[in-house]
Amino acid sequence: MKIRSHFILVLALLTVVPILFLTSFVVYLNLTSPERVLFSRLEKMKGFDFAAMPKSDKDAVVKYLRERPPSFEEAFFFSDGMTILSTIPHIPGEGRIDAEKLSFRLFENSDQYYYQLSAIPIQCYDGKLIHLVRYPKNAVKSGALREGALPRPRNFVAAFVLIFEAIFAILSLFIMNRIAGSIRLVEQEAKKLDDGDVEKPIHIPLNKGHSNEITNLLTHLESFRKTFKQRKKRRDSFVMGLSHDLKTPLAVIKGYSEGIADGLFDGPKKRKEALDVIVQKATSLESMVDELVNFVKMNESDWNANMANKDLKEFLESFATYIKPTCEIFNREMEASIQIPSGVTVKMDEQMLSRALGNIFSNAIRYSNPKTTVFLDARMEKDSAVITITDQGIGITQEDAGQVFKLFYRGTRSRREQGHGIGLSVAKTATDIHGWDIRVESELHKGSSFIITIPLTS
Ligand code: ADP
Repeated sequence: MKIRSHFILVLALLTVVPILFLTSFVVYLNLTSPERVLFSRLEKMKGFDFAAMPKSDKDAVVKYLRERPPSFEEAFFFSDGMTILSTIPHIPGEGRIDAEKLSFRLFENSDQYYYQLSAIPIQCYDGKLIHLVRYPKNAVKSGALREGALPRPRNFVAAFVLIFEAIFAILSLFIMNRIAGSIRLVEQEAKKLDDGDVEKPIHIPLNKGHSNEITNLLTHLESFRKTFKQRKKRRDSFVMGLSHDLKTPLAVIKGYSEGIADGLFDGPKKRKEALDVIVQKATSLESMVDELVNFVKMNESDWNANMANKDLKEFLESFATYIKPTCEIFNREMEASIQIPSGVTVKMDEQMLSRALGNIFSNAIRYSNPKTTVFLDARMEKDSAVITITDQGIGITQEDAGQVFKLFYRGTRSRREQGHGIGLSVAKTATDIHGWDIRVESELHKGSSFIITIPLTS
């Protein structure tokens, strides 16, 4: 059953049932009201034309009868003894009753009944219409007979409840319509994504009347769509770049192998040279595949990065200790200045970040000369922690600086170094996954700084 049907069912129960109940209550009260009883009995009265009575008299009769006891037997007669209606057994409904006889009868049963004798104040009968009511004494004792008049139908209460119910029903319908409309909207947009359409932006209603908690889901869907689209684009360009970059060494290997097979390389010396090229390209391919496997692994972990709260100072200090021997092997000085207070924790995937910082450090070594220094600096700045890795190397041109984080991008000045343009892509992916920022500042022949900004929002 859909939410909509559930809602309609609940709405029906909340409105229809009370309305039915109230309507029957009102009908019941009306049917049993003193006025009804009066009219049904008056209709039976012989020689009493109630319909022909003036309105003021009718009102007087009704008012009078409202005040009589609720459970009773009654008789109407004129002051001359002429009865016109009687439900009391020993008083005849038609004919005449003698006043003496009547008082005797009343007296006779007075141990069992209470009697109430009143003259109905009406003009047309000159105040002579007499009404006798009797009701059993034991009914009073047992509490079966309530004092006072029969409850009047509380029409105004019923009307109030009915109006309330109607407002409630209209409001509920309005709310249901909004909820159903919002759900429909989310369903529609989610279906687009389900059909694989990540190109078109999700339609988010900006109109206040249409924006609510349900439609707010669309904002999340939109940011999911954007991220998904970005990742898809990254993967597509990754696969494109991959096939392109793998093709070049493969083409060389293929060309040299065919040359050897066709006997193009005469003599063992030339063949050896050709074979050396093949081995060199195969080795290059192998290291490229290794780097790619790492990159793919990292991108896979986008979805389940192993995040945990870590003390930033501790992490950076242990990273500095780990990287120092590598710098020494390559004859580079390493200076670390970690000015992050203890206790500043950051949510991170330690392994992923070590790999990212490792790549930046290895570049700092590769693109600088021996006996230079690589600096690791970390400090607090406003609401962020900033990590900077600086080298005194060849620097990056303005043009390259905007591209170096792209997959397979190799700087124009880096050809002399072995590399595949993957290392900084890995660093960028890692910082992106953490929601951090990475940028480069560089001056040619002086060196480069890679700056990672970690927002510290508690
Ligand atoms: P690779 O070093 O394998 O080419 P990277 O992705 O690590 O790939 O770097 C991309 C490019 O950025 C490099 O080719 C190089 O031109 C430039 N680069 C990276 N780090 C530095 C650095 N510390 N100094 C100068 N250039 C650098």
